[in-house]
Formats: sequence, C-alpha cells, structure tokens
Amino acid sequence: MSRPTTSTVDVAVRHILSDRTTGFLTRTRRITWRDSLYKVRRPASGKQSVELTCPVCDASLLAEVRTEARTRRTSAVLLVLAALSVVVFVLALAYAVHEGGRTLPEGQSLPALFPVSILSIFVTFAAAPTLFLRGRHYNGVTMLDAPKPRRMHGIKPVRG
Ligand SMILES: [Zn+2]
Repeated sequence: MSRPTTSTVDVAVRHILSDRTTGFLTRTRRITWRDSLYKVRRPASGKQSVELTCPVCDASLLAEVRTEARTRRTSAVLLVLAALSVVVFVLALAYAVHEGGRTLPEGQSLPALFPVSILSIFVTFAAAPTLFLRGRHYNGVTMLDAPKPRRMHGIKPVRG
C-alpha cells in the first residue's frame, strides 16, 4: 500500500477583531473574529515553516507544518496521555476516598500520599479533557510567530 508523499491540511487563519470583557459582578467575555481558510501543503518529511497572510490585515504569520505520520503520532500520544490522566484520576480519587473516609487511631496523621492524591485529582481533572481535545483536533500545524500583538491572531484546525 503506497501513500501519497505530500498531502494538504486545512487550517483557518483567525483574526481577532475584538476581545472585550464587560460587566463587573457578572463578567462576560465577548470575542469576535474572522476566519480565513487556507490549504497548507505538508512536507514530505520532518517539518516545514510556511508563511500565511491574514487577508483581514495583511499580517504575515509564520506557521510550522509537520508530516501526516508525525501528526498522527503526536495526536495518538496526546490521546494516550488523556487516557492515562483518566486512570490516574480514578485511582487517586479511589485512594483519597478510602484514606479520607477512615477513622484514624489517636495521634496518627494521614499518610503523605494523601495530599499527593488530592493534587493528582485536581491536575488530572483539568488535564484529561484538555489533552483529549488537543489530541482530537491536533493537525500538525502550529503558529510560530505573528506580528505583535500576537494574540490578535491564531491558526485553528479545520475538521474535514
Ligand atoms: Zn489579521
């Protein structure tokens, strides 16, 4: 089975038009942007820098594109890490519930592993969904550089 050596990937160059946070007690963040679709050619091997021009403001953005094989591998690693986070979360939670629910004999403190398990619960709870989404949407294209202010631009994956 032979695979084509070059393939393309669809990305969106996102130009942030405005990013406002209004309200004092109930803060609402309103972001408006304009996406422009681009087809980026993947390199035959390794990684390659490509320059994309934002059609809204003519800014040139520098992006890095990886091969399809490399992209798939990174995506798979992220998904494995997400799965591991879920496993650690469940184990840490089970341990914390077990240790925390015990009545300790007089003068005995909780084992040192207890705060570690609590910390693990919080860390993995936040990391698992992030890693999962990153793994699902990773397309091998990352933004390297953009004219300041940098946060006015982004390169977003496009499903398709
Ligand atoms: Zn722009």
